[in-house]
Amino acid sequence: MNDLKIAVVGAGIIGATTALELQKCFRNAHIEIIADQFYDDTTSYVAAGVFRPGSGFFGPTEDITYKWLKDSYEYYDTLRKTPEGINAGVIEISGYLFSSQYPENVKNRFLENICPLYRPATNEELNLCPGNWKYGSFFTTLLTQSSYYIPWTIRKFQNNGGKLSRSKIESLYQLALSYDVVVNCSGLGAKFLCNDHKMVPIRGQVIKVRAPWIKTFFYGDFDTYIIPGVDSVTLGGCRHYDSWDLNVNNYDSNKIKEQCESLLPSLRGAEIIAHKVGLRPYRNIVRVEKEITNFDGRRVKLVHNYGHGGYGVTAAPGTSMYCCNLVQELWKGNSKL
Ligand SMILES: Cc1cc2nc3c(=O)[nH]c(=O)nc-3n(C[C@H](O)[C@H](O)[C@H](O)COP(=O)(O)OP(=O)(O)OC[C@H]3O[C@@H](n4cnc5c(N)ncnc54)[C@H](O)[C@@H]3O)c2cc1C
Repeated sequence: MNDLKIAVVGAGIIGATTALELQKCFRNAHIEIIADQFYDDTTSYVAAGVFRPGSGFFGPTEDITYKWLKDSYEYYDTLRKTPEGINAGVIEISGYLFSSQYPENVKNRFLENICPLYRPATNEELNLCPGNWKYGSFFTTLLTQSSYYIPWTIRKFQNNGGKLSRSKIESLYQLALSYDVVVNCSGLGAKFLCNDHKMVPIRGQVIKVRAPWIKTFFYGDFDTYIIPGVDSVTLGGCRHYDSWDLNVNNYDSNKIKEQCESLLPSLRGAEIIAHKVGLRPYRNIVRVEKEITNFDGRRVKLVHNYGHGGYGVTAAPGTSMYCCNLVQELWKGNSKL
């Protein structure tokens, strides 16, 4: 196994986490992360980072989806409880989901089973914020701030001997001729690299503000959220299906500010750090699959890990572990493809 060469395409939260997991499985392998964008140029840096899978998050089966999420929660929670947890940007947070009309909005079949606490909000709690809140839940979960977690992960990867290269890949199959396995964590880039028509951008815009007095998260109707992270609070948001627009839109900024301030008036006057836009790499079923194919007269081996939509931070560790198992299967040559 000593001379195994693996390329990981993508340096967002999926690529970084997968590369570090691969080092645990293949201690002597040469592993390289190749990406055209790193750190704050990735979608991953836009995310609030809260562990909250939506009802539209699907793996190939309900059992596998649940395992990805459970493994992810345990991974982050174990890290959080070490002295490194805070350097990696992992914290525990609690807060509220409110809805004025939709009881479904405050339920979550995954979180109800995985989080240490998930309960209905009391009548008193429904009156905590202005608004006519009829339904509510209070829960405790985790938050992973990518601007800490990705540099922490990549530092560990490099300290273990991993390499980084900046390059735009035109063909995964061409690349696979130079490696034993290529692991594709290219997010929305997979739409083009794999000609995958199921990949759709879901545009999101947020405002990062300084408001250290906010320690609790709040979700309201219509994509309204206020999420305190390690050193900033994320205000959101919007979900624009099939939009490729990466520009900050003033109309969206005003709407986000207005809806968050009406939910939590103490936000008025909070200092704005940044406006950010990201394209969630959405696929109806997240793709974590192996592929063996013939290219240029040779057999090439790939494992895909992309399409996490609005839940890539949430599911990064679980899908990365699953992806590493597929790489192991390929490497041992017992693939059942
Ligand atoms: C507003 C907003 C809020 C969000 N909030 C949350 C949240 O609270 N919780 C949560 O779990 N998720 C959240 N998300 C979703 C999360 O950000 C994504 O699911 C996650 O970032 C996807 O990670 P990724 O590594 O797949 O993609 P990216 O971060 O986009 O990384 C893709 C990588 O692939 C590389 N790449 C692509 N194509 C090529 C190519 N041809 N050659 C070389 N490199 C290539 C890129 O350069 C990049 O390095 C949010 C997203 C948005 C937009």
